[in-house]
Amino acid sequence: MSLNDHWMQRDLAVLWHPCTQMKDHEQLPLVPIRRGEGVWLEDFDGKRYIDAVSSWWVNVFGHSNPRINQRIKDQVDQLEHVILAGFSHAPVIELSERLVKLTPAGLDRVFYADNGSSCIEVALKMSFHYWLNVGQPAKKRFVTLSNSYHGETVAAMSVGDVALFTDTYKALLLDTLKVPSPDCFHRPEGMSWEAHSRAMFAHMEQCLAEHHREVAAVIVEPLIQGAGGMRMYHPIYLRLLREACDRYGVHLIHDEIAVGFGRTGTMFACEQAGIRPDFLCLSKALTGGYLPLAACLTTDTVYQAFYDDYSTLRAFLHSHSYTGNPLACAAALATLDIFEQDDVIEANKALAARMASATAHLAEHAHVAEVRQTGMALAVEMVQDKASKTTYPWQERRGLKVFQHALSRGALLRPLGSVVYFLPPYVISPEQIDFLAEVASEGIDIATRDAVSVAVPRGARTDFRDPG
Ligand SMILES: *Cc1c(COP(=O)(O)O)cnc(C)c1O
Repeated sequence: MSLNDHWMQRDLAVLWHPCTQMKDHEQLPLVPIRRGEGVWLEDFDGKRYIDAVSSWWVNVFGHSNPRINQRIKDQVDQLEHVILAGFSHAPVIELSERLVKLTPAGLDRVFYADNGSSCIEVALKMSFHYWLNVGQPAKKRFVTLSNSYHGETVAAMSVGDVALFTDTYKALLLDTLKVPSPDCFHRPEGMSWEAHSRAMFAHMEQCLAEHHREVAAVIVEPLIQGAGGMRMYHPIYLRLLREACDRYGVHLIHDEIAVGFGRTGTMFACEQAGIRPDFLCLSKALTGGYLPLAACLTTDTVYQAFYDDYSTLRAFLHSHSYTGNPLACAAALATLDIFEQDDVIEANKALAARMASATAHLAEHAHVAEVRQTGMALAVEMVQDKASKTTYPWQERRGLKVFQHALSRGALLRPLGSVVYFLPPYVISPEQIDFLAEVASEGIDIATRDAVSVAVPRGARTDFRDPG
């Protein structure tokens, strides 16, 4: 038995994997990873894979990065963890100072959670609680965009709209207001991203005009709807939204959990719109992809609405056991050092251009509707019919074929349904980008070549897809 098989069998005897139909592993081998270095992951049999999805979008400076490793090693000898209520420590103070400095002016307070979903819970609760504290208890609903994703906990699912993740749990969810997304995939032929996103804003304007008295906040994934299939839109939408939120007295929550830290080409996506949200949620790349940590930044106005004598009971009494963990903060500080010292945002421009040129030919593919890109995220959407952009039935799992082909070639590409995407660590080389493009092209050829026969029951849902 190979070492991979050995570890796979032990794994499958006791683990229940995230976002997985475990029965798939009767056919689909699990890949046990022994070590990582830079963009490479290596399995127990010594086969190597380029991590083209940054291990679920978290890794930015490669696996086992010496600079981040060292910072964590130094920290673990000093202080591994301490309660953050009534106590504090240097890494969390330094990190907060740096995040306040790095993010748009006016985001002056940092509240920590320990993963993206719980960071969204913090922002939602804080916004609702703010309105309660200032005497507007009617403001308790949230406005979200169609096809959005904000995490897996119940309130986070409530403001999400990817059927695959939320449909089953509908009965548990909050009552939210959903507005059509400014996503440019279905824009009329010949229309620019800007014109389309601007036109789509009319729906948001109408929703806010009608409901603002009962709305606490609008929550968006700025520029890229990640889990919804790497769908993209123009920054003009965010500018119009900021202006409308001000006009109607509604908070704006930016979920930059996936897009923060350079993914869209600027350090934060909101910079491209020149705006400051009321809540900025960060996680994923915050620690370079090492440890779970999330930060919810907000304004002094919000902070002051909670600041009062204890007996008024206005405090935000929310906590997570590992809030502000020193090891995670140390990893985050090392990550921010690398951004600064290596001028990463500037250096990424060449890599982004290489991603574009290496995949440009795919736009001509008979089963590719679009190759789209925002900074260091690039997506290729496979379709059954190019002219009408008709998607493949989700039951055919075309993306899975790309995944399997890529694995055999030594790349970890994990499509979202029929959307093949690259979201690589920023330490990838131009040649490695070319290799990924080659593997993706082959995979797309294979995945779209033949008719796939699957039993699709009459009346089956069409809006599901494979998870990423
Ligand atoms: C991943 C993600 C989340 C959830 O973060 P977790 O750490 O997985 O809970 C929330 N919002 C967006 C946009 C994400 O991509």
